[in-house]
Amino acid sequence: MKIEIEPVALCRSPYKQKFAIPRQPRLVPAAIGRLELQGEYNNPDLYRGLEQFDTLWLIFAFHENLAQGWKPTVRPPRLGGNTRMGVFATRATFRPNGLGLSAVKLRGVGCDKGQHYIEVEGIDLLDGTPVYDIKPYIPYSDALPDAAGGFAQEPPPPMAMAISPEAQDAMAYAERLCPGFRALATQVLAQDPRPGYKKEEGERVYGVQLHQFDLRWQVKEGRNLVVDVVSLET
Ligand code: SAM
Repeated sequence: MKIEIEPVALCRSPYKQKFAIPRQPRLVPAAIGRLELQGEYNNPDLYRGLEQFDTLWLIFAFHENLAQGWKPTVRPPRLGGNTRMGVFATRATFRPNGLGLSAVKLRGVGCDKGQHYIEVEGIDLLDGTPVYDIKPYIPYSDALPDAAGGFAQEPPPPMAMAISPEAQDAMAYAERLCPGFRALATQVLAQDPRPGYKKEEGERVYGVQLHQFDLRWQVKEGRNLVVDVVSLET
């Protein structure tokens, strides 16, 4: 049976590019997102009582990857990008129906100029991601601490980071304009966003857009060194 579904919300996220988004939710608690309710779902009745819970499930589409389709096997970055696994044995974004599932912390609900929203933290969703359902996380049933985690039993070890003396002022400026930016940058870089099969050190400068800033860093002596934070707003 085919069913037709439409987004109930759009996710507003600090992640403007797929690169550097953590591989799972809650690895970067400073990543705060807003789920803006859409159309007939832009109605506070739909989230009445939600604040009794502190964690939510989001069911969403990997909308940026849908056009590329899917394959029965994929190469998880956690395995270095060389070993093939069945798509159902992974959390790959290229999958039948292109649906993602994330458990995130609820911060609160609100309304701004008629736009009802649910604010969450620890998201791993790209800005503009369509969200198809929102459900409360039920600990007695959903928390399974003894479950076997396969090749993803533990989160990846965090990587050290530092802010170079030259980038201190730019980081302070970004923090003033966008409170929480420093924590976000620190936690994103601790995830070591480089692809699993390309872990090179040296002069190469990596960059990613977070909020309205381009965060730039190099990998030096086993740590991520922020070399600049450039405002993309003119
Ligand atoms: N927690 C979800 C799950 O298990 O279904 C997502 C896991 S998936 C491995 C996380 C990756 O999805 C992120 O690193 C990011 O690159 C990618 N991603 C997030 N939002 C996306 C979107 N709207 N379209 C395509 N890729 C997206």
